[in-house]
Parts: sequence; structure tokens; C-alpha cells
Amino acid sequence: MSERKDFCIECRKECYYSLRKQYVKKLIKDKEYTFEITEAFCEECGMKMDVHGLMDKNIKEIDEQYRKIEGIVSIEDIEKVINIYKIGKAPLSIALGFGEITITRYLMGQVPSKEYSDVIKKVLASPKYMMDKLEENKDKIAETAYKKAYEAAKEMRDLFSVSKKMLNVISYIFEKMEEITPLALQKILYFIQGFNLAIYGKEMVKEECKAWEHGPVFREVYDIFKDFKYNPIEDDRFVIFENTESELDINEKEIIDLVINTFGVYSAKTLERITHSETPWIEARLGYDDGIPSNVLISKNSMKDYFKRIDEKYNIETEDGVRKYIKKILEK
Ligand SMILES: [Zn+2]
Repeated sequence: MSERKDFCIECRKECYYSLRKQYVKKLIKDKEYTFEITEAFCEECGMKMDVHGLMDKNIKEIDEQYRKIEGIVSIEDIEKVINIYKIGKAPLSIALGFGEITITRYLMGQVPSKEYSDVIKKVLASPKYMMDKLEENKDKIAETAYKKAYEAAKEMRDLFSVSKKMLNVISYIFEKMEEITPLALQKILYFIQGFNLAIYGKEMVKEECKAWEHGPVFREVYDIFKDFKYNPIEDDRFVIFENTESELDINEKEIIDLVINTFGVYSAKTLERITHSETPWIEARLGYDDGIPSNVLISKNSMKDYFKRIDEKYNIETEDGVRKYIKKILEK
């Protein structure tokens, strides 16, 4: 039962209505598109109702879907560029080589050309590219604006100094898991690395993992997310992770899915308990008491050996096998 009520022109009175998804076809520049929109129907007479605010919502939805189909940057993402690089609309336009008011127009709803859209997407995905663009058009921008944006881009570049593969993997995890804390992310990455080493005999990411007090930690990833402490990860800057997961191959995605579907259901603290019961972490922590920090590496070889043995015993190439393994550890 819906709580929604509005005036129905057929019934000539206030009626409850329900919302349904409908498909509409539209011709844009000689190309036919199918868009999903939301429409309201009177619960008494069944006729379509003109509900306040719905038309605006549908215009917005069509715009978003059109941009998605054509691979055009969204208004939201353009706003993110402005936020993360701390730059105004006009200087951004000039830095990117556009006309001075181009970005302003885009923010008001004008759809960018594919070419300009790609430039905006590229600065979102690469702080280094943003630095190059700023450098290129330095003379045309006020010095203070240039400096502020350049600093912000440089900070971003230094912060996201992980490998491309690590970005891809994190991006895929973000897409698959609704919420994840930095602590849980570290554990998930650790199992992905360990499983890939055991099953395919090679690393997934080139980064090294350290035996910190609360379990295995990829330092470079820790630095990116440390501001979030125990909270789910959310920040405009993480737009950098978006849509890069498509660069992963099928085997890589399978390993990540395997880990997410099994370990992913546990809290960060439980995952910590699991890693603390495993040989690679225990061995790397030898000589360090609880509470004593250490920077000792958990070698890829020790992870490979350990998870290979686990694979022989539990067959961790299947979700059932992994679940059996987890159950066994948690019973200890
Ligand atoms: Zn009606």
C-alpha cells in the first residue's frame, strides 16, 4: 500500500496512486533510445496521473541514462572535479582548453561533446593529467587559482600512488559490496592476493602486505583511506576508482567474487580474528608481542604456500570449500 496521494483528473478527487517503471522510446539525433521512466497510476481508476515533481524527475532520469549510454560525463562528476581539485568553473574551463563559460553551461545541463566529456573524465581518473593540463594553460589562469588546483592535484596524485591493478581491484570491490570499512577492505584484499597466489601461482597486485597489529595491511591503501577510520568509505575523491574495474579479466573477477561472497559477509573484527589465526601473519609477527607495532612484510611466498595447503585441504576454488575453511577457523 502506498502513502502517495494526489489529484486524479478522471476521478475528480484526491486518490492514492502507485508508481511504476515504464519504458519510453525517444529519437535523439536520429538515433533511437529506450529510457526507463517512472509513472503514476491512480489506484481507483487505473489511469495515468500527472503527479507533481514526477516530470522533472523523469527529465533528469532520461538525461542520466542518455549520458550513460553515450559514455558522457555526468553533471555530478563535473561537480566532483571542481571539489577535488579545488578549482572554480572558469579556471577549470580554461585549464581544460575549453571556452571560459563551457563548464558553467555543462553544470546547467548542456550535454558535453564526446571529446570534451572524455577530457573531463580523464582529469577525474588521473590527477597527473590534471597537473599536465594546468601546466599547459598556466599563463591563462590567475596564479592563485593555478597554485591551489595544482597543489590539490599533486596531493591526490601522491595519495593514490597505488598500482593500476590495485585501483581496478578496489573499484570492483566497491561495486560489489554495498559498504566496506577500511579495516575490512584490507582483509578482503589480503585474501584476494593469497587466493590468487595459491590458485594461479601469481600475485593479483604488486603491492606488499605488512603484518600490522590488526592484521595484514597494504600500506599504500591504508594511506588512502585512513581518514575514514571505522566508517564506511565515502568521498568525492574516490571517483578515481569508478569504472576502472572493467580492466580486470574474468579470472581476476572470479577470485574477487569468491572472496567477497565468502569472507565478505563477516565483520572487519571477525576477519581480523581469521587472519590472526593464519600462519603468514603469525610467522611475520614472531617476536612481536600484542600491541607492539611492526613493519615486517608478509611475504608473497608465505601466503602462496599457506593458501596452497589450505586449497589442498578444503578446495578453496569453490565457495563451499572457502566456507568450510572459515568455519573451521572460527571454531578454534
Ligand atoms: Zn482516478
